[in-house]
Amino acid sequence: MARIVILGGSFGGLTTAFELKRFLGKKAEITLLSDLDKFVFIPSLPWLSLGWRRAEDITLPLKPILEKKDISFLHEEAKGVDADASKVITDKREIPYDYLVIATGPHLAFEEVPGLGPENGYTECIFTLEHAEKARKTWEKFLETPGPIAIGSVQGVSCFGPAYEYVFEIDMELRKRKMRHKVPMFFITSEPYIGHFGIGGLGASKRWLEDEFAEKDIKLLTNQAVEEFTPEEVRLKDGTRIPYKLGMFAPAMKGVPAVAHLGNPRGFIPVDEHMRHKNYRNIFSVGVAIAIAPPEQTPVPTGVPKTGFMTVRMAQTAARAIASEISGIAMPAPYEMDVLCLMDMGKTAAFMRAKPLLPPRQESTLKKALWVKWLKICFEKYFLFKMKHGLGNLP
Ligand SMILES: Cc1cc2nc3c(=O)[nH]c(=O)nc-3n(C[C@H](O)[C@H](O)[C@H](O)COP(=O)(O)OP(=O)(O)OC[C@H]3O[C@@H](n4cnc5c(N)ncnc54)[C@H](O)[C@@H]3O)c2cc1C
Repeated sequence: MARIVILGGSFGGLTTAFELKRFLGKKAEITLLSDLDKFVFIPSLPWLSLGWRRAEDITLPLKPILEKKDISFLHEEAKGVDADASKVITDKREIPYDYLVIATGPHLAFEEVPGLGPENGYTECIFTLEHAEKARKTWEKFLETPGPIAIGSVQGVSCFGPAYEYVFEIDMELRKRKMRHKVPMFFITSEPYIGHFGIGGLGASKRWLEDEFAEKDIKLLTNQAVEEFTPEEVRLKDGTRIPYKLGMFAPAMKGVPAVAHLGNPRGFIPVDEHMRHKNYRNIFSVGVAIAIAPPEQTPVPTGVPKTGFMTVRMAQTAARAIASEISGIAMPAPYEMDVLCLMDMGKTAAFMRAKPLLPPRQESTLKKALWVKWLKICFEKYFLFKMKHGLGNLP
């Protein structure tokens, strides 16, 4: 029986596990390792940070949903991978594998900018459940004594969407509370222009977002690198200083330490179009853990986002490729990167579709509408249902 080990229990790891089980049944022994014992629907973390969701609304315990499908779950952190000996190393054991799937997501590199981040710095982050919970407490305190707000993405960021969502949601909340006039708002980003998103823009995203920010009276600073954050100021490399009372900044990402040695200089795993490691035939990787080269060099470094939509497609491709070697089912079509994203904007939301992900493109759609907000709310419920019932084959 083939032994398959999966690292990570989120969009990538869970989808791969369910798909492998569906294809292979008893032909494989599948073990999923995660340092977190729950699945978190990360796209709802901005909502949680504003008190619109509670943790129990957007999380699922991993053990029961995996064991129901006869997939073993180990609540352990992988400390390393010995790729030559085909073993995963944890504090408690060594786990041999015939196939390994790396779906460990990012290491959030707060250490790259002094003063950045909720642990050793002065800014909030909404990228993990723990951080979003802390951001919610800071937001509640901020409402008692408001002041300037700075939101954005530092140099090297690849995941730009959440900062856009957060700035529009905060703007809406403040207007609802009749407080917006007490709060100067700044949006600071490493993108060369607003709406670049790390993918060279999407249709008329630049012109459209310039108007949105102007109408909402949010000051824009693009093409910026941050020198440091102090408790009161964002200090930019060009000498500009922006005061803030509440700061939320996205960090750059790297591969997690346990697998970084298998990756490029930032620890991201190089894979082919079936998500197979370029040097190790029995290692696959999906989601944020993989390496994607940026479409263009930007004056301030930026990276390419790897969304949940893309991650699910990568996981389905990897699972089918592994199953095809073990049981002879047809190989999957090569994964062609495209993206569909629903960006929350407070009262409304934007539908974004890019095919392929990077320009030049065959198709790009950008549409702001109320129905997109409803679609986003429904998608959260749908995705949690799908993960709870092990339906990894669904989009
Ligand atoms: C705030 C926010 C909002 C977003 N909104 C959207 C959206 O609206 N639409 C969209 O398509 N995408 C969105 N994304 C992107 C989406 O969340 C990611 O693409 C997706 O989470 C990637 O899944 P993953 O499995 O690759 O990694 P992750 O979700 O990061 O999961 C990695 C998992 O691996 C575990 N892990 C890490 N290291 C180890 C280790 N050493 N041993 C064991 N386990 C380990 C972690 O605990 C984690 O559970 C958003 C991202 C953020 C941060």
